[in-house]
Amino acid sequence: MKIIVFFLAVLLSVQTFCLPLQQSAASIRNVSDTVATEIPDSDAFFQTAGRAPKPARDNSRRIERLIGQMTLEEKIGQMTQLEIGMVSTGEGDNFRIDPAKLEQAVVKYGAGSILNVKDNALSIDKWHEIIRQIQEAAARTRLKIPVIYGIDSIHGANYIQGSTLYPQEIGMAATWNPILMQHLAEVTAVETRAAGIPWTFSPVLDLGRQPLWPRFYETFGEDPYLAKVMGVAFVRGVEGQDLSSPNHIATSLKHYVGYSFPLTGRDRTPAWIPENYLREYFLPSFAAAVNAGAQTVMVNSAEINGTPGHVNHHILTDILRGELGFQGFVVSDWEDIKKLVSVWKVAADEKEATRMSIMAGVDMSMVPSSYSFSDLMVELVREGKIPLSRVNEAVRRILRVKFELGLFENPMPDPSLKSGLGTNTSRQLALQAARESMTLLKNANNILPLAKTSRVLVTGPAADSLISLNNGWTYVWQGNKPELYPKDRATVLRAIEAKVGKNLTYVPGVSFEKEIDIQEAVRAVRNVDVAVVCVGESSYAETPGNVTDLTLSEPQLKLVEALEATGKPVVLVLVEGRPRIISRIADAAGGILLAPNPGNEGGIAVADVLFGDYNPGGKLPFTYPRSPNGLVTYDHKLFETEETAFGNAAFNPQFEFGHGLSYTNYSYSNLRLSSKQVQMNGQVQVSFNVTNNGRRAGKETVILYVRDEVATITPPGKRVKRFAKINLEAGQTHAVTFTLTKDDLSFIGPDNKSITEPGDFTVMVGNLTDRFTLTAANHIVPGTIRKPATR
Ligand code: BGC
Repeated sequence: MKIIVFFLAVLLSVQTFCLPLQQSAASIRNVSDTVATEIPDSDAFFQTAGRAPKPARDNSRRIERLIGQMTLEEKIGQMTQLEIGMVSTGEGDNFRIDPAKLEQAVVKYGAGSILNVKDNALSIDKWHEIIRQIQEAAARTRLKIPVIYGIDSIHGANYIQGSTLYPQEIGMAATWNPILMQHLAEVTAVETRAAGIPWTFSPVLDLGRQPLWPRFYETFGEDPYLAKVMGVAFVRGVEGQDLSSPNHIATSLKHYVGYSFPLTGRDRTPAWIPENYLREYFLPSFAAAVNAGAQTVMVNSAEINGTPGHVNHHILTDILRGELGFQGFVVSDWEDIKKLVSVWKVAADEKEATRMSIMAGVDMSMVPSSYSFSDLMVELVREGKIPLSRVNEAVRRILRVKFELGLFENPMPDPSLKSGLGTNTSRQLALQAARESMTLLKNANNILPLAKTSRVLVTGPAADSLISLNNGWTYVWQGNKPELYPKDRATVLRAIEAKVGKNLTYVPGVSFEKEIDIQEAVRAVRNVDVAVVCVGESSYAETPGNVTDLTLSEPQLKLVEALEATGKPVVLVLVEGRPRIISRIADAAGGILLAPNPGNEGGIAVADVLFGDYNPGGKLPFTYPRSPNGLVTYDHKLFETEETAFGNAAFNPQFEFGHGLSYTNYSYSNLRLSSKQVQMNGQVQVSFNVTNNGRRAGKETVILYVRDEVATITPPGKRVKRFAKINLEAGQTHAVTFTLTKDDLSFIGPDNKSITEPGDFTVMVGNLTDRFTLTAANHIVPGTIRKPATR
């Protein structure tokens, strides 16, 4: 039944956004690559998905009644989040709830929330057993308030055996397909809820503008517009229209805000972000997702401008509540109140840190491994250092989410939902996403696709690794336990074997960090037609993934160089979560395919592209640097692109943002503006045609960029304003029209407020450009570049 509801929901939303929809429900069920393949206008999607639904009912009376009955300790319990180790014992198969610990956590301390699981992935039955015991303990408390359990379902339901794992956010961003993101987010919700868990700590809405950062792959890339469209798609998919439905759970937007831009690139190190830049780039994805109704927000675990996220009242309260109108609750990140003392040194002791953090706006503390928070909070309120009204406010917010999730009515896992885990339909969607994420970066002399009769050497450390295809947050935090991966998913090696059979030779060559036998690979390449070298990264999450140099590891570079030196054609497959520098090996490689952590179906997706069974259409959601210090984003200032008198332009990436090749070719024509003089409160339609000139069907993502020619804050050379993803048969032409208004032409001014200045704007799509003049209301100015007179 639930599955049918899910299909209907998929169909309905596809019908809303995709024209025309030719597939029947039955074919969607069985055939991959038929769902949600067109995005006629990113803005139309954004406007629809980005609006919060009305809550099914108003629970405020029930909440106030409950708050009226609660003791201080019970209220503080609701604000307390503990990790599973606080209520469990044992490892592996012996992992189980410890009744005495559970009693202390949930009954004595009244902990309102529990998170994660020890380094393991549990069966769905085990999850049911665990959650049931926890909720039974909650039912033994005086007021029977259910516990809200949360896990990091980052690219599919995590910590659950048999779940559907699709591309990491960086791969989803490469698809430029928010409808697919919405469907897969719904799969995440269905599968997480199936385990009895109603809350995920996702999406990550930090922008990936610092590729060294080890959480880069958790982001939707460097562009704020793409991140906000994908972010609302994620929220809508996970939370749906009714949070209490068995298909939906609550999201947590993280890590609010500015976490992803550390100066050194290392996790949880200082970021320096002026407020206008913060608002221009890092805030919009959060603002849009709040507007879409996201229920919870997790705090930036690091600091910006010398103020740790967890004590930043301006960000957590003035902006989040006052400006963005956030209604849900704010949860701290892992142990971060304690770290205000031990790491950040803004408080002398934990009690002061607790006061600062709660008064800044944190509603729930991910303590998570002690009772210090609860004990200190009781003291702080009794001593009048935290007003009871602030506690009531936090508890009100937490209870509202619990009510809306339906936890008071249905706290227990529902056995009938188990069948929703890891269905074939979900797997097909994950495969579609993996395919759409494939980004073909180079294809010299059309070396690709390869003939299935080719003799192929497969080599490199990512060739036979599901771990590398998935990266972190896969079954366990670091994604590094091979025994937890499904045996029936193909690595790149196995998927290529399925295409070429006996014509395959496999030599590992090197591991990610060490040489194994490069000469053996060199000997093997003599007897084949082409070498497919799978390089990149193994798995990592957070601080363990810190690097100080983005260059691909030396053994991998040596392997590729040795193969290239033989003169045999080399195709590189980059399986990685951030751009590892390949300039030493890129020029001599015939083909380069990026597989941006495509998940468990990624092996098939790579092989399908290499052998032409799928026509690639992914486009880079970040700038691929050529050198370790050449870290410049696509939306840099124009003067950074220009060749200097000394011939050394700052911007010289290996591959540009938005780059991605296809086995067909597209052309753009007939760019038209509805008007060259546009009034401030008017709009301008940008229309053009895109044609598939090749011999096979494909999907082209068209990206509309706009440049503000002159502005008070030095303007970027271009910014993404719209995109569309269009299916084009061979020879077919499609007319696209985007509408821009003054909001699309605004920027954050020196006073941190959004402004739109009159003047000239250039629109760019494909190789076409045109220009219009935005005039102050009722005042036509000549169509020349000019300094804005007024604001
Ligand atoms: C991470 C968060 C995560 C939390 C719970 C922290 O270390 O920064 O992203 O949600 O752990 O696992």
